[in-house]
Amino acid sequence: MRRVVLMTGASRGIGAAAARLAASKGWAVVVNYCERADAAHAVVEAIRADGGIAHAMRADVGEPDGVARLFAAFDQTLGAHGRLAGLVNNAGIVASAARVDAMDWTRSERLLRVNTLGALACAREAVRRMSTRYGGSGGSIVNVSSAASRLGSPGQYVDYAMSKAALEAMSLGLAKEVAEEGIRVNAVRPGLIDTEIHASGGDPGRLERLVSSVPMRRSGSAHEVAEAIVWLLSDASSYCTASILDVTGGR
Ligand code: NAP
Repeated sequence: MRRVVLMTGASRGIGAAAARLAASKGWAVVVNYCERADAAHAVVEAIRADGGIAHAMRADVGEPDGVARLFAAFDQTLGAHGRLAGLVNNAGIVASAARVDAMDWTRSERLLRVNTLGALACAREAVRRMSTRYGGSGGSIVNVSSAASRLGSPGQYVDYAMSKAALEAMSLGLAKEVAEEGIRVNAVRPGLIDTEIHASGGDPGRLERLVSSVPMRRSGSAHEVAEAIVWLLSDASSYCTASILDVTGGR
């Protein structure tokens, strides 16, 4: 049975880079996306062109039924050909820069649903399939957090920082909960990475403006984060669990 990794938000940015890197190392990859079917299919095509195995699956991880439907689709299609051995909780969103006193409920609720509750729901489904407690063969879960969890993102998006701090708490607790069941759970904490997420938050010049705060004086690439994700996913990190790996250029 081939090892399969399900990556949320793998149509663009860090997730797309991690999907391609994992596929190059022999993983069959489920490329989850929310809206950009074109981008997801481009990732799948690129992986297949290199001889890898990939399938695109649409699901909004911020919707209560979205995650259940995603895993049901997984069971029906890839479940017959391989076993779920990896989950990368990468899907994430930001919102426009605002102080806390200018935020409304709807915006912060959406951030927490996608960045935190969606990841928790995916982890739940993955544990049900990977844990030796349920007859599974173990696996690895990688949660994509953010340096915002320890910086707090003042004046930008404290609610986003909060969603990532909660994601890290989930990583630590779940790691200890399932450590004896063959599952490792770790997190990666990217810093300023060159993707479209900054423009999607209405601030395309964000990287350029903040890069002087990075000790290395440059932004990171999606591929540099993907290397950390895929290492934590792989057996090369077999004694790591409950770890949080900064990929921030020292920021
Ligand atoms: P990105 O380029 O904006 O890509 C976001 C990805 O998430 C896309 O594939 C998007 O799918 C998907 N997505 C968004 N909402 C979703 C939903 N509700 N359900 C399923 N998929 C959804 O972002 P990125 O910069 O690569 O960020 C990836 C992760 O890294 C996020 O968790 C982010 O918080 C974290 N991060 C990024 C940075 C940075 O500087 N870039 C820094 C720290 C942490 P569609 O293509 O369908 O829209």
